Amino acid sequence: MRNWSGTYEYRATAVEAPTTVDAVQALVARSRRIRALGTRHSFNDLADTTGVLVTTTEIAPEFTIDEDRRVVTVGAGTRYAAVATFLTGEGLALHNMGSLPHISVAGAVATGTHGSGDLNGNLSTAVRGIQLVGPDGALRWVRHGDPDFAGSVVALGLLGVVVRVELAVQPSYLVRQDVYAGLPWATLLADVPAITSAGYSVSVFTDWVGDPIEQVWVKRRLESADETVPDQIGGAVRRGAAAQIIESDDDNTTQQGIAGAWSAHLPHFRIDRTPSNGDEIQTEYFIAHSDAAAALQAVRALGEDIAPHLLITELRTIAADDLWMSTASGRDSLAIHFTWRNEQAAVEALCPRIEAALEPFAPRPHWGKVNTVPKAVVASRYPRFADFRALVARADPDRKFSGPSTDALLDADVAA
Ligand SMILES: Cc1cc2nc3c(=O)[nH]c(=O)nc-3n(C[C@H](O)[C@H](O)[C@H](O)COP(=O)(O)OP(=O)(O)OC[C@H]3O[C@@H](n4cnc5c(N)ncnc54)[C@H](O)[C@@H]3O)c2cc1C
Repeated sequence: MRNWSGTYEYRATAVEAPTTVDAVQALVARSRRIRALGTRHSFNDLADTTGVLVTTTEIAPEFTIDEDRRVVTVGAGTRYAAVATFLTGEGLALHNMGSLPHISVAGAVATGTHGSGDLNGNLSTAVRGIQLVGPDGALRWVRHGDPDFAGSVVALGLLGVVVRVELAVQPSYLVRQDVYAGLPWATLLADVPAITSAGYSVSVFTDWVGDPIEQVWVKRRLESADETVPDQIGGAVRRGAAAQIIESDDDNTTQQGIAGAWSAHLPHFRIDRTPSNGDEIQTEYFIAHSDAAAALQAVRALGEDIAPHLLITELRTIAADDLWMSTASGRDSLAIHFTWRNEQAAVEALCPRIEAALEPFAPRPHWGKVNTVPKAVVASRYPRFADFRALVARADPDRKFSGPSTDALLDADVAA
């Protein structure tokens, strides 16, 4: 079995897809090594194991709304598209979405998957509780306020198989998306927050070599559908016609200037289409938002070498959170993302150069994307890593739930 993009082949001995929580419990209890798999949207070996992979995507979502706590409980393997469709029908919403709504909730929150917005935490910050199957097959809840909660959400599958997730909800809201073209690099670098704060969720798209920057997508929350929006941002001009980022891709949610439900406009890809295989590789690094201008200049110096292998770069922002292993843990962040052509060798040659350029800014690589940062360096970039390692040792002393990639992280030579 391969990942979504076809660029990684899992080495697990088997892939199981039980249809009930009971069956997950029984499978975990009798397995020596087992690791949860979501919808296979990661680009690296993070999810892999030398034992069995188990996915919860075939378990019914069983949506339940708790109006008092303002949470929805969902089956962990449910895709965001299904959650968003259900919530919109109930007049409810999530605070944010990733670019692709076909990713599973458990897989997304296990890795700190994010959308954009200076004031928006990543998708893991919506979690209010998770229900896990532990190594003995027993079920337990970890809820917001419990001592281990901050270490249990972005947990890389290491604490057990998550079977249910509680997500914070709010009343449904309107979002309008506009595309602005032609942002001078100098304007962005002079004041990055001025651009990233131009809407509820802002994405800047560049190939690093062109000037001006190609496109800025601005998703605004509206009070009413007829609210007006500015015609310019930093010299970039609002475009009238539909704009597409990746050629011949009619799965994008680029309906410009039209207000609609949050679920139709916050993701980049439409929830009623299913892009199947991307034939691409992704890499992403998180740095402090306050370092954005210097970090962007450092990467831009490599632009001529990056561009031939790049489909597109997207810049997004994420609000700081307190989740121990979240890529935005403790710092408001800028995410520098690369969608590469499917050229593994070229990508692996470029990553160390980009990582060296970003080194002064202590970049954290996306847990689910290709990078070459040594595990000890990755671990050192999380102030609560020692606490996380201790939590994993308590929850899963025999490392039933770990695989080669996470073993290397847990064994990394960093101060305990
Ligand atoms: C087209 C595309 C667009 C993307 N867009 C974004 C984006 O906008 N923002 C962003 O941040 N990332 C993005 N990603 C990356 C993606 O969100 C992450 O890699 C995410 O982890 C994938 O979730 P998954 O369900 O596919 O998990 P998998 O890749 O299958 O697994 C990832 C991790 O989650 C764990 N996991 C999965 N299910 C469970 C479970 N039930 N219990 C415990 N642990 C579990 C696994 O053990 C593993 O550690 C994108 C990827 C693709 C392919």
